Parts: sequence; C-alpha cells; structure tokens
Amino acid sequence: MSHDHSELGEMDLRVRALETVLTQKGYIDPAALDLLIDTYQTKIGPRNGARVVARAWSDPAFAEGLERDATAAIASLGFSGRQGEHMVALFNTPERHNLVVCTLCSCYPWPVLGLPPTWYKSAPYRSRAVKDPRGVLADFGVTLPESTEIRVWDSTAEVRYLVIPMRPAGTGGLSEDQLAELVTRDSMIGCGQPKEPVA
Ligand code: FE
Repeated sequence: MSHDHSELGEMDLRVRALETVLTQKGYIDPAALDLLIDTYQTKIGPRNGARVVARAWSDPAFAEGLERDATAAIASLGFSGRQGEHMVALFNTPERHNLVVCTLCSCYPWPVLGLPPTWYKSAPYRSRAVKDPRGVLADFGVTLPESTEIRVWDSTAEVRYLVIPMRPAGTGGLSEDQLAELVTRDSMIGCGQPKEPVA
C-alpha cells in the first residue's frame, strides 16, 4: 500500500514543534521520549499479542476465557494498560474472517500490539477496509474463499480488538513458544495469516 513519507503532515509538524519547545524549556528529555517510543515499538510490541494467540491455540480453557472477557484473559498473562482497557478477541473461523480498522483515526490495542504501523493510520486503509475489505486483503496477499464472510470491526476510543487467527495446520507437535513464533502482527489485525511451520 503506497504511502508518502516525503512530507510531514500537519500533525507531525505540530508534534515536532511541540517536542522542540518542550526540550528547549527543559521540560522533557528527548532520550526519555525515545525510550518510551522504543518501549512500545519493541518491548510492548506484537510479541505480547503472539503470546496471547499461542496460549489460546494450546489451551482451550484460556481460549474460552478470552472469548468471554478478553481484557481479563489478556491481563492474566501480564499484558494490560493504556489503550487496552476494553479488549475484545475476534476468533477467525473457516466461515468468518475478522479485519480491524479505525475509520476515525488510529485506535489500536497498544498492550498487545505496540504502536500501529503507518499504513494502519493511512486514509486509504481506513476507508478501503470498510468499502472493499477483500481488495485490501488481496493487497496484503491474503485470498480467502468466497464462502468466507469478512467482518470488519471499527475500533473506537472504548473498544480495541485482537484478531485470533486460525491455528495453522501441521502445528500439532509445537510448543507454545514455537507457536508464538508463527503469529505475525498483521494476522492479529486481520490483514495477514500466521506463518506456516517449517517442515
Ligand atoms: Fe482511532
């Protein structure tokens, strides 16, 4: 999906100006800001969500709890906090594939996925995900049978979604750690599939 990185948008300019002023006045330490961003990008990243999915794949009781109360089930693995206060888990099935978008802005479940990728915040994704979800999936290289319904979920300030992809075939003998390795960020947004296990 194309996205122009050459020009800073209005919001980026404002953020940058604000950061400069706050730094000059000594209110913030740019290194601390970088650390905060790095934390959400690498430490609190999609690996957390992958743990949730892998547990759901290997523990039916956990999966049941996740379906009933995703916020509590996810918190039981130690993942909670800002932008994850009201989580809903969407389980993909052969009959229904779930795709998550925020049509208004960029709402995203930070505690399990980290910061949203640039394309998630882009206008084309936000509008097309609703109008042409099958086309968006094709852009991501995902082709589903015509018989599979695609349900699009619009995030709000209140509710954040985590897609639980279907467990890939041929993974019966894998440990939870090995399963987590197969779970991609995109598969938890609904615009990708988990990786296939290496034979
Ligand atoms: Fe939003």
